[in-house]
Amino acid sequence: MGTYGRFPLTLTRGKGCWVEDEQGHRYLDAVAGIATCTLGHSDRAMRHALSRQLRRLQHVSNLYEIPEQIELASWLVHHSCADSVFFCNSGAEANEAAIKLARKHGHTLRGIDRPVIMTAQASFHGRTLAAVSATGQPRYHQGFEPMVEGFENFIYNDLASFESLLSRLEMHGPKVAAVLIEPLQGEGGVNPGDPAVFRAIREHCDARNILLIFDEVQVGMGRCGTLWGYERLGVEPDAFTLAKGLGGGHAIGALLVKQHADHFVPGDHASTFGGNPFACRAGLTVARELQRRDLISNVQQRGDQLQQGLNALVERFPQLLQGTRGWGLLQGLVMQEGCGHAAIDVVKAAIAQRLLLVPAGPQVVRMVPPLVISKREINTLLSRLDATLKSLST
Ligand SMILES: *Cc1c(COP(=O)(O)O)cnc(C)c1O
Repeated sequence: MGTYGRFPLTLTRGKGCWVEDEQGHRYLDAVAGIATCTLGHSDRAMRHALSRQLRRLQHVSNLYEIPEQIELASWLVHHSCADSVFFCNSGAEANEAAIKLARKHGHTLRGIDRPVIMTAQASFHGRTLAAVSATGQPRYHQGFEPMVEGFENFIYNDLASFESLLSRLEMHGPKVAAVLIEPLQGEGGVNPGDPAVFRAIREHCDARNILLIFDEVQVGMGRCGTLWGYERLGVEPDAFTLAKGLGGGHAIGALLVKQHADHFVPGDHASTFGGNPFACRAGLTVARELQRRDLISNVQQRGDQLQQGLNALVERFPQLLQGTRGWGLLQGLVMQEGCGHAAIDVVKAAIAQRLLLVPAGPQVVRMVPPLVISKREINTLLSRLDATLKSLST
């Protein structure tokens, strides 16, 4: 179906941070399947681990114990603030699980009939009906009304807006089950969260026994130079969701919860494919390689290098560019308003320079390369971006 506006590009091979089209042209890939191909394309460890797994066992139902699932859950629990994990197949699905969990929390722990989940404007939580209802961007709702009820938006990074919505909702008693929020808004324009605002939100949630749930689908698994986005904010959530980077290009999602938020009992929630041996092997391989290759410190160094290079480009092209923002290897280049070009124009022009980029909203060009990207490849990225911007300024 015509669900995608596609670039006229057919990619048929990949290796590391590079992809090749049908004609054999090579592109530096700063999209990486939109922040999913953590280890790059056709990674050796991934190829070996997955082919071994395919030879042994690909899929069994969650009716049985799955050792790969237990192993991945254990790794995630051991390396995060969470105590247990539910596996599914995508970010939207992970958020659906979080939304169900939040509503159960509202019903059982706060005694609310019609629980509300507070989400931020310009957020993105996925395209299924409840996840898109949670998403605070009207353009994703248009034509699909009625939305799922029970979501109310406040302005991201604006504590006054959060507090006024909270007190309006809770005026006549408990009403709010959870706050669902991204540590950094990815799709909404690469907008990092303000630690002070997040700390205050945490305190409000604690005071009222409201669940604080982070959508770490884009920022989780090392992308931001810390394993989890919440480490950047100095605030622990009660639950958080993962997907994109977790499987290194394979479909897997997860909801992670602390013990006090672990409200699901047998029969409450399920997924046919969620947490199957193959998907969990992909996740385990990403986890193992992150550690073995010390990729988080690579993200920190390459992220700094990228940000410095982007800042230099902002100085070189002040008529086109307003600034940069982001964490680690999730960086955005903000276009100058009224410069006559939108982010999509930069993305299109970059294809001619053999560089793949992705917009994050109308005004921001996003870079989310594989976490294995080298110093030299960052320099190539920057010089191709320089050539792209030059081609737009003439
Ligand atoms: C991509 C994304 C989602 C949706 O993930 P899908 O796997 O496409 O369903 C949800 N939340 C955030 C923050 C995302 O970046």
